[in-house]
Amino acid sequence: MLYLDHCGSTPLSSPVKNAILQFIESNNFGNPAASHHLIGRKAQESIESARLVIANCLKAKPQEIIFTSGATEANNLLLWGFVNRYHARGCHIIFGATEHKSIYDTANFLKENAGITASEAVVDSNGIVDLTKLEDDLRHNKGKPTLVALMHINNEIPARHPVEEISKLCAKYGAFFHCDGVQGFVREPLNFNQGLFGSYVISTHKIYGPKGLGILVLGNGPLAPRLLPSYHGGDHEHGLRPGTLNTLAIIAGATAIKSHEELRTSRVEHLKNCSDIFIKILSEQIHSFRLTTPPNHLAAGIVNFYFDNQDSQSLLLKLEDICLNRGASCLGGGGERFSHVPRALGLPIEVQANVLRASFGDAITVEEVKIAVDKIIAALSK
Ligand code: PMP
Repeated sequence: MLYLDHCGSTPLSSPVKNAILQFIESNNFGNPAASHHLIGRKAQESIESARLVIANCLKAKPQEIIFTSGATEANNLLLWGFVNRYHARGCHIIFGATEHKSIYDTANFLKENAGITASEAVVDSNGIVDLTKLEDDLRHNKGKPTLVALMHINNEIPARHPVEEISKLCAKYGAFFHCDGVQGFVREPLNFNQGLFGSYVISTHKIYGPKGLGILVLGNGPLAPRLLPSYHGGDHEHGLRPGTLNTLAIIAGATAIKSHEELRTSRVEHLKNCSDIFIKILSEQIHSFRLTTPPNHLAAGIVNFYFDNQDSQSLLLKLEDICLNRGASCLGGGGERFSHVPRALGLPIEVQANVLRASFGDAITVEEVKIAVDKIIAALSK
């Protein structure tokens, strides 16, 4: 199989596999909240040392790290927690038109069902947020508790939002700034204590770590909202995310984050090489090849493309040994629905049906990318 879906997920790296095996062998099965006995304390110590490793890597404080079951839950926890806390004061959410569904659908749901207002921050044809319109929206809602939820790097198109400018605008208008950093953290280190973000989310299965672990980094500066929990039944994670922590995933996740810090520069270089060669061969050889947004080295390793008059579903059926995606993995319904992202770029409906995403990483070499491209070209003429 040729794997071109690293934005969907990544395989476990060797250090992560070793950490998992070591954990299993260690019989460290206690409940990390059972601090009144030795076996519980052993699990708790493992969690707290993993938390410290992660906090050091993200340049955050250990108490700012909240473990969840994934980035989807972390984004939900933040949006719901904000609404729980501020809805009585008439709060407002501004969310990006190309956000991952864990923000996009949640914000729309809250707008329809939670008695709050929410507006979409529009993007240009390159998928980059329009800062003038964002500022208009912030000005219009000044005085209301307002949360801006705009992602760092997109998971479907190679687009990086100007988070530095967004952060300044939020500070200027007294808004909170939440950033989905799942794909951003793959490509850029986080220095949370710099104060650019009020809150930031990462997911370890995008960096060769375990599935089922998300991290919400939540500060307490002016850009960070105070949250009220949506779930109840325990004091874990400051009472914001009750439930027994997943010791195995947390230990393995800390290993993934630490080794990603060491490998990020070379991984990003590889992402650039893979996307460059993929785009080069296809644009030289196939006249109907189109990119939905231009290549972007700040968001390397993601190519969102289509072929004129070539429906993506029927092309995928001819590519059984290649793992490509039609958009994000979270579309659901067996991938039958179109993503909202090409729509936000203003692409016509007939083009939306043709869109594919290739995303690169450690599970494919540059040579294998060339083989994959040859197979795609062959499938086009079948
Ligand atoms: N946000 C982005 C940008 C993502 O790429 C993903 C993964 N598709 C998520 C959130 C959700 O992450 P998880 O799978 O950990 O719930």
